[in-house]
Amino acid sequence: MSTLDYRRGLHDLGDGCHAWLQPDGSWGWSNSGLVTGSGVSLMVDTLFDLALTREMLEGVRPVTDHHPVRTLVNTHSDPDHTFGNQLLARRDVEILATAAAAALMTQEAADAVASVKHAPGTLGDFARHVFGPFDLEGITATGPDRTFEGEESIDVGGREVRLIQVGPAHTPGDALVLVPDARLLYAGDVMFVGGTPIAWAGPIDRWVAALDLILDMDVVTIVPGHGPVSGKSEVSVMREYLVYVTDEARRRYEDGLDVDDAIASIDLGKWADLPEAGRLAQNVLNVYQQLDPSVPRPDRLSVLTKIAALEGFEGADPVPASRG
Ligand SMILES: [Zn+2]
Repeated sequence: MSTLDYRRGLHDLGDGCHAWLQPDGSWGWSNSGLVTGSGVSLMVDTLFDLALTREMLEGVRPVTDHHPVRTLVNTHSDPDHTFGNQLLARRDVEILATAAAAALMTQEAADAVASVKHAPGTLGDFARHVFGPFDLEGITATGPDRTFEGEESIDVGGREVRLIQVGPAHTPGDALVLVPDARLLYAGDVMFVGGTPIAWAGPIDRWVAALDLILDMDVVTIVPGHGPVSGKSEVSVMREYLVYVTDEARRRYEDGLDVDDAIASIDLGKWADLPEAGRLAQNVLNVYQQLDPSVPRPDRLSVLTKIAALEGFEGADPVPASRG
């Protein structure tokens, strides 16, 4: 599939595999997947709010009317992949995720995400800007019925689907969903296409290793967590970004720059125009944290403020000059 086909809705990828895509793939605009076997199907991820997930569940009915969803796999714990879970739980669907992802899918975490749109100042302004289209209220945190670690094969109506834990990378509990007989991979947010990846967990070296694992797989089609359906060339592009940022950050750390000076001084070059370029702030922070465990680990909301500032978000305060 070329990026020309990157339109909202259901895409038939052949071999009983589908994707539900949500352009433009920026903050919160995530993709889901659907794998059919004999008389049943498996869904990969839900969406960021209940309305979007309802729209998807209605939109996939041409498939699910004959192949009802019996399994939902969450590729990781992030809200834009899990906040629709409660709608599936009502339908007698078994939900699976890694144990590390499950630990983060709490009501407290869901409420914190909803509250960010009410935050004062730059953080709130940025959150209202990027999360404005989503209704984050009233989410009942719905974690998995069953967790796994490492690798697990499951049967979906007579065909094998493999779940492969690769996190911590993007988040602590990332997993890939491989459909071997279709040579197709649902990569979750281990793959961002057309936008900047963000290493909330890392270490980034583990993320690069996960991309190498994908490059070694017998797959042709890759559905990213955000962006158009892709292949291995897009994996290589993302790998190159992560290696570049890691090298640039490490050099600045060795030169004695603090983390904020490092963030401010990195020239992203050919990646400067990539959407969400401000996620560089978290990626550099992640490299510094690996090199020096005493580097503070601000919560996600504090990091969002730095990202807003780096992207020149209107009204953003300058990046605070905390020594790293
Ligand atoms: Zn996501």
